[in-house]
Amino acid sequence: TRTLRLILGDQLNASHSWYQQQDDKVSYLIAELPQEVGYVKHHVQKVCAFFAAMREFTAALQAAGHDVIYLTLDETQHHATLAELIADLCSQHKVATFQYQLPDERRLRDQLSRLSLEGVAISAAETEHFLLPEAEFPRFIKAGQHNRMDSFYRKMRKRLDILMEEGKPKGGQWSFDADNREPLRKDDLANVPEPLCFANDVTDILARLERHGVCTFGKAQAQLLWPINRRQAKALLAHFCTVCLPNFGRFQDAMTDQSPLGWSLYHSRLSFALNSKMLHPGQVIAAALAAYEADDAINIAQIEGFVRQIIGWREYVRAVYWVNSEQYDAQNFLLAERSLPEWFWDGDTKMRCLSQAITQSLDYAYAHHIQRLMVVGNFALIAGLSPDEVEAWYLGIYIDAIEWVEQPNTRSMALFADGGWVATKPYAASGNYINKMSDHCQSCHYNVKERSAPNACPFMSLYWHFLAQNKATLGTNPRMAFPYRTWDKMADTAKTETLARAQAYLHSLNEL
Ligand code: FAD
Repeated sequence: TRTLRLILGDQLNASHSWYQQQDDKVSYLIAELPQEVGYVKHHVQKVCAFFAAMREFTAALQAAGHDVIYLTLDETQHHATLAELIADLCSQHKVATFQYQLPDERRLRDQLSRLSLEGVAISAAETEHFLLPEAEFPRFIKAGQHNRMDSFYRKMRKRLDILMEEGKPKGGQWSFDADNREPLRKDDLANVPEPLCFANDVTDILARLERHGVCTFGKAQAQLLWPINRRQAKALLAHFCTVCLPNFGRFQDAMTDQSPLGWSLYHSRLSFALNSKMLHPGQVIAAALAAYEADDAINIAQIEGFVRQIIGWREYVRAVYWVNSEQYDAQNFLLAERSLPEWFWDGDTKMRCLSQAITQSLDYAYAHHIQRLMVVGNFALIAGLSPDEVEAWYLGIYIDAIEWVEQPNTRSMALFADGGWVATKPYAASGNYINKMSDHCQSCHYNVKERSAPNACPFMSLYWHFLAQNKATLGTNPRMAFPYRTWDKMADTAKTETLARAQAYLHSLNEL
């Protein structure tokens, strides 16, 4: 009797126990699916990266002696749903058992859990990727309430025994985040490293997308720079550990438009390799810790900052996503309803920080955390953009965007639409923050020192408007007391003029 095992595009974990033994009675299915290119409008590089990585994974399994059925859009285009495709293959190949790995998104998990195939036994396996098993989520995260990332992270450090010395955190403190907030100075710009980029030929995939009329956006690249197999992913990890890790934390929040390398800086750009599961988080941490042990140039603040992202934030958002489950989609605590300005799709805005962050995202399907959170996300928050629309944008544009990680970051962290499950207060900030962490404001059309003048920085006026607008909901939050006190102390005319400027901007968002 035959077994058919489904491998989804973000389940490219070559170390999975499924592949430990070769078995002639087992076939694997890897398929380019119309539903996966269509559930949201994706960046073209994202679709190319997933399809190319799926194809590479197929080749690796075949080389190890496994039987793999790889279907391109040419073959799957006539199947309306994944369920139909699976049913078809099961009857074609006389399959007695169908197995799949538990998807990380609700959408696919629901779909597969509803699957019923006549005469076929169905079972689900773990993906064997994450560090915290799902069964333990309830011990770490409670639904519908705030759960501190800090506490989660400490538990993970102890549990995994990472950067610990006799039960205490190495270096005497759990987090060195406060040391990690340097902007790039002129001298630093000359030292920014060249990113390691690949040149993976994806012309056939681009042609296929065109042939099937798949609707995408962003800059197409015939030579894809993202890693598409384990060898490349490991090379990127090694490059990060030697070249970027010594300055990773230090410049983690910095932004510049004065260097052509400003899009990558000291970031790992490992998120695609991790989220497609080509790399295991344990493997990434082990490599980074080994580099830290071997290289004096990497101090504790750098390694701790990186460890926190992987065993802290990444595992934490996943638990928050699953524990809150379908409650998530409807969250709109601040009742934000405005549509995205048109320039979200082409980067054509006079605000230099946003133009930079969005153009870069369109060019590379990538922006680093502070660009996502404090530039694009902050604008979406203080301009009151609709969480559904903002989420669809984030879910489409980034190379690493998969709902389990995109949703808590966007809806919770950036938009505070959950009312505080993740953050204790909104990450709203005026133009001063962007001015401190970047060189964008110096050559911007708008003036970051102004909040009500005709050329006032929109982040300045919209920030105060956001506070005034949401006073009923946010005014009682103790962590918001300081900005509200500043607002209250402002002269009435200054308040009125600032709000009028903000209103004018809100009425012409497309023109900004
Ligand atoms: P680095 O800065 O080098 O960090 C190393 C790794 O840590 C990342 O690869 C990632 O796996 C992990 N990590 C860091 N921060 C986070 C975080 N907040 N949540 C989860 N993992 C984290 N990340 C995604 O992987 N997919 C998304 O769809 C996504 N959407 C986001 C949307 C918004 C609004 C915001 C504010 C953040 C989002 N992030 C998302 C988190 C983070 O910005 C990216 O993981 C990071 O920028 C990826 O680049 P990198 O690999 O160079 O990261």
